[in-house]
Amino acid sequence: MKLREIYKEENSPVISFEFFPPKDDTDGTKTAALLSEISLLKKYNPALVSLTHGAGGSDTNRGIEIIRQIHTNLNINVMPHFTCIRSTIQEVDERLDLLNNIGIENILALRGDIPQDKNFCFQDFRYASELVGYIKNKSDFSIAVAGYPDGHIESPDLKTDIENLKRKVDAGADVIYTQLFFENNKFYNFKEKLQNAGITIPVAAGIMPVVSTKQINKILSDIKVKIPQKLLEKIEKFENNPDDIKKAGIEFAAAQYADLTAQKVDGIHFYTLNKSDAVSKILDNN
Ligand code: FAD
Repeated sequence: MKLREIYKEENSPVISFEFFPPKDDTDGTKTAALLSEISLLKKYNPALVSLTHGAGGSDTNRGIEIIRQIHTNLNINVMPHFTCIRSTIQEVDERLDLLNNIGIENILALRGDIPQDKNFCFQDFRYASELVGYIKNKSDFSIAVAGYPDGHIESPDLKTDIENLKRKVDAGADVIYTQLFFENNKFYNFKEKLQNAGITIPVAAGIMPVVSTKQINKILSDIKVKIPQKLLEKIEKFENNPDDIKKAGIEFAAAQYADLTAQKVDGIHFYTLNKSDAVSKILDNN
């Protein structure tokens, strides 16, 4: 089913889960573990599972095989992420063909982060909006794009970032998936600003349960996101007790989820970090 049909008002909030393919997997055990985690979340009837794509594009064949297995063996609608920062038009065409051949209907079109080694960057695509326009003209895929309630890390301000998000929408995007955030008000303000900018397509809210200090430190080094004082205090208080940090992180995300659901947002996209248990606890208790 395509994004346009999935994100109808009567389906809200649409639930989706994000996973990433293992970096290496010579004997297939990591892929089997990934598929097992995904299948544990099937009982929550996700509208789709999304699978990330390295900005280098080197994982194409293995990534496609995992996408095929989620789609065919688990029978779950899967939306591959598709980065373009290092891709040529020919490579994009090849990947689109591979995805089309295995029956994929939806793509999350992204630029990808600028790597330290800028070799082969910006060959045929500079921004995600160019990839969206290219896929839209070339194919029948339904297209999602990324949005940033805290602003994208390279953007001078949120207003400019939303102007650039509008380019992706005007190029043919059907749905926006947001970067993870911890303050729901930030998401509601973002939605209002999108409306004011004439962006009316559905927006799926990205949430992620904090499960460890290592994870939160990694996030803070990668993206622009504010952690509320309330959550920070808990993380600091339980610094030496991993179980309590996880419990506090799940409780926080569960409250976020309950509030977003009550506000009837279009969709809730869970960043699972390839583990089903934290997300299961949130969904079981709501
Ligand atoms: P763009 O929309 O191209 O924006 C990049 C920057 O350029 C922004 O600051 C924007 O404001 C600016 N900009 C855009 N257009 C213009 C223009 N015409 N003129 C001037 N400035 C412009 N990364 C991965 O590598 N793999 C993944 O699988 C992945 N999945 C993600 C999923 C989600 C839901 C999100 C939110 C992010 C994901 N990312 C992923 C991270 C993403 O690739 C990075 O945030 C990247 O830096 C920007 O990608 P984008 O598609 O938003 O780029």
